[in-house]
Amino acid sequence: MMNVIQSIADFQDELTKWRRDIHAHPELGFEEERTAKLVAEKLQSFGLDVQRGLGKTGVVATLQVGNSHQSIGLRADMDALPILESNQFGHRSKYPGKMHACGHDGHTVMLLAAARYLAESKNFDGCVRFIFQPAEEGLGGAEAMLLDGLLEQFPMEAVFGMHNSPGMPVGKFAILSGPMMAGGAYFDIHVDGKGAHGAHPSASIDPVIAAAHITTGLQTIVSRNVAPTQPLVISVTQIHSGDAYNVIPQTAVLSGTVRAFSKTVLAMAEERMGKLAKSIAAGFGATAELDFRIRFLPLVNQPEEADFAADTAAELVGQENIHRDFPLIMASEDFSYMLDNCPGAYINIGNGDHAGSQGVHNPGYEFNDEILALGASYYARLVERRLVREGPQDA
Ligand SMILES: [Zn+2]
Ligand SMILES: [Zn+2]
Repeated sequence: MMNVIQSIADFQDELTKWRRDIHAHPELGFEEERTAKLVAEKLQSFGLDVQRGLGKTGVVATLQVGNSHQSIGLRADMDALPILESNQFGHRSKYPGKMHACGHDGHTVMLLAAARYLAESKNFDGCVRFIFQPAEEGLGGAEAMLLDGLLEQFPMEAVFGMHNSPGMPVGKFAILSGPMMAGGAYFDIHVDGKGAHGAHPSASIDPVIAAAHITTGLQTIVSRNVAPTQPLVISVTQIHSGDAYNVIPQTAVLSGTVRAFSKTVLAMAEERMGKLAKSIAAGFGATAELDFRIRFLPLVNQPEEADFAADTAAELVGQENIHRDFPLIMASEDFSYMLDNCPGAYINIGNGDHAGSQGVHNPGYEFNDEILALGASYYARLVERRLVREGPQDA
């Protein structure tokens, strides 16, 4: 069962063209100039009121129908990732080292398609805010839009977001009431030692040795400092030190990410990481400083809006295709900042589980054009079901 809105599905070929065009021209966070222009021009051509430049490259469009003061926000993200695409199809990235490997090209087109449909059909009463945010991938685009006055300039009673989910079959949705995705921090640990000739280690304070011990030491926070029932991830993803075969370097830098579902656990991790880094380094005669920056809050769905989102999706694909008790997701998502300031819900839409399909952030990942009309229908039905028009409907 797939109750996709027919007049959206009728544009499948055009939507696919839009999506592939954006895919071929990926832009990193806060650099989405081409994408924002394309989005703004399309929204204007649908007759919407468009404002650019919110959160640097963000775009917000407003569609008011009727006199009702009811309002709803729908949000998509526009940024790509610093990944060298390995796909060989015709619409692969034209920019080496940049790639839409998270499907934000698809999210953008799904929301554009919903905007076009709603501007034409006008089968609701109230105000819709279409939010195209920049820099979701760790650069704080949602927060930047909020700091630029998103909710003051464009008031909305609830806001809804969506992400594609590779490995989940087409026609399925997943959502959780309450905490759904982890909050996350980025960190750097600067280790200072004393450089020396590579053949004279006793003349050095080796920052490489200290960095290696800190890297393994950090893993004990997960195994020893947090309750086994509380999810926590600490990943050192970069170790940088040295430039030569025969020089013990002066410094080393460790970097990585931390994920958890509560602010308390994040704070505990920060405190333990700082202490461990300092004292392990001190044991070797070196020093270490932790720089810990929370980049994502845990994503928490409001129960009422989560139910509304799930019911809306169920109307499209049937109750049996909605996972309402999806496992917690360790990845992060900066839509959490919008949900921290406005009621709302975030849902996952199946991107397909076909052979060879890759996860997000993989160089072989591809957004599935088959779900464009379904995702757009979901956005459109959220509006029509939330901003219900009183009185007789058009036949
Ligand atoms: Zn991503
Ligand atoms: Zn993403």
